Amino acid sequence: MRSRIIPALLASIVVLTVTACQRRPEEFRARAVLATAQTSPVASAEDAADDPAIWIHPTNPSLSLIIGTNKKDGLDLYNVDGSLHQRYSFGMPNNVDVRYGFPLPDRRVDIVATEDRTGNTIRVFAVDAESRTLAELTTGDGIPVGHDVYGSALHHDPTTDQFHFFVGSKTGEVSQFRLSAAADGAVSGQRVRTLRLASQVEGMVADDELGHVYIGEEARGVWKFPVAPDSGTEGILIAPIGFRHPIRRPDVEGLTIYRTSSATGYLIASSQGSNEYVIYTREEPHRFVGTFRIAPGANIGGAGETDGIDVTHRSLGPGYESGAFVAQDGRNRGENQNFKIVPWFHIAGIFEPPLE
Ligand code: CA
Ligand code: CA
Ligand code: CA
Ligand code: CA
Repeated sequence: MRSRIIPALLASIVVLTVTACQRRPEEFRARAVLATAQTSPVASAEDAADDPAIWIHPTNPSLSLIIGTNKKDGLDLYNVDGSLHQRYSFGMPNNVDVRYGFPLPDRRVDIVATEDRTGNTIRVFAVDAESRTLAELTTGDGIPVGHDVYGSALHHDPTTDQFHFFVGSKTGEVSQFRLSAAADGAVSGQRVRTLRLASQVEGMVADDELGHVYIGEEARGVWKFPVAPDSGTEGILIAPIGFRHPIRRPDVEGLTIYRTSSATGYLIASSQGSNEYVIYTREEPHRFVGTFRIAPGANIGGAGETDGIDVTHRSLGPGYESGAFVAQDGRNRGENQNFKIVPWFHIAGIFEPPLE
């Protein structure tokens, strides 16, 4: 008996020693920022808030909106100070995204799109800049997807002027739909490509100028695919998850892009399992830049177990001249979940050298 126990003990000592030597690189350590504002809590209890999108007002940045999903109730529209502007109760929208200048027969409109888990459909809304309200452009229950829907992102190709909607699923299937408007203004979608990942996907973001879509396979990492429907179905895993990688633990959740020029900037991923946000360069080779977290402040709590995130380089008015980062907060100090808002220059300034 002893002859078996001693080798087993020796083996565990070797494993422990090797693990202790594999220190996590110091450069991965998260730097802390504070939120300067937060949205009103969503109306539903427990896990309900999920994903934000920022809409920029065409003439007055202070009138921009933060649009958040309450996956048990609908879309909530918040002012930049976090106060509730309007609540749209419908279905079970999971993720939400914004694009500008979608062509209707008689005009161009800014659109907000979401995947509704009620009937596994896509729903598209126009933003009225005057009243800062939404009007649905899809009809009935929305555009049927044909599989369970989980995670989504909009894409606008500036060269072809086509608009696409990517929608994921819990089985790893990702459908790409081309959106277009009929003569009566009703928006429909045509499936143009199907991508297949090995397991559940959710967070995604399209890079319109550089022509990529980034898709988070929750347990494995961030994949990059060419955005053109005829560009095949092969992706590259650009940010795997693991102790030796910047994203330490699953799930990878929200993904977003901060633009510093038409071709440069930062790709940011929510590392839900470690309550952190990991920054890579937007341009290849997607070098690791740094990690941050939203720490508890005097008046506003920190953010934890974050699902969706969004960022903009455009001004949201005083205090947010170089844009803002918005993160879902899965643990909002005894209240229903909400979204935390951080000026970009606070995030840029905690790194050495500062980010752009
Ligand atoms: Ca959640
Ligand atoms: Ca979003
Ligand atoms: Ca998820
Ligand atoms: Ca989510």
